[in-house]
Amino acid sequence: MDLGIKGKRALVCASSKGLGRGCAEALAEAGVDLVLNARGAEALEATAQHIRDTYGVEVAAVTADITSDEGRAAVLSAAGDIDILVTNAGGPPPGVWSDWGREDFIGALDANMLTPIALMTELMPKMIDRSWGRVVNITSQSVKAPIAALGLSNAARTGLTGYVAGTARQVAPFGVIVNNILPGAHDTDRIEMLDANAARAQNTTPEEIRAAKHASIPARRYGTKEEFGAMCAFLCSQHAGYIVGQNILLDGGGINATL
Ligand code: NAP
Repeated sequence: MDLGIKGKRALVCASSKGLGRGCAEALAEAGVDLVLNARGAEALEATAQHIRDTYGVEVAAVTADITSDEGRAAVLSAAGDIDILVTNAGGPPPGVWSDWGREDFIGALDANMLTPIALMTELMPKMIDRSWGRVVNITSQSVKAPIAALGLSNAARTGLTGYVAGTARQVAPFGVIVNNILPGAHDTDRIEMLDANAARAQNTTPEEIRAAKHASIPARRYGTKEEFGAMCAFLCSQHAGYIVGQNILLDGGGINATL
């Protein structure tokens, strides 16, 4: 399928690895020029070079913490005019409700709610001027079904989801389409860290944890970053103009719900 976005320009945040990288590669395959971002320069430059070599698109790489004001300013100034925005950042650490104080919540809200809102606020006006834009926010299945150990994530991402629900409907009349993708368990560094954490807490091995989690998912495995990226690219395509403010769950059937 031709996604109809060849020659567009996308900012994909937090994209040297994992789900962000999956989105970047799928957009590059559709002929989209990219601005990539991560904090670690080495992995970011390696990913940027791989994408240039593989897909022949233009790739700029900006080393910065997207959750800081200075980092965002650096990314936005390098990015210039953007047609497609994919927001992403690392998730907050796991823990127990009684661990978390005000500063922990402020950090999580900054990273996983206020950063994507700031990026949308900055970039959507020009999308509106051009009567075309796409935004995909990478959130989490925890928006639909809470993961108790990720209370900071549950809270921050639910706030973003509420914001998107209203804002997506305000910008849709101007050709700007905003949606969220909710990852269930995907095979990335993040899930490896969470599995290792769970193994320590339960006095078992990461392999045991992974096997038990696979068994609990109807698809019997974790998702891949390539599958995730393909959905992202579709939501950024010309074909997605009638999908407004939706929360697309990619979880292998893990959440047992009719809707
Ligand atoms: P990952 O494999 O750990 O990759 C994270 C990527 O983001 C890396 O490129 C990392 O590079 C970059 N990054 C992290 N924090 C950043 C920051 N502050 N500024 C700029 N770049 C940053 O993680 P992932 O699994 O792809 O997860 C992506 C998001 O989806 C996270 O918020 C996670 O909580 C959420 N999620 C993931 C899953 C899953 O199963 N994988 C499920 C639900 C939700 P640097 O470290 O070099 O900055």
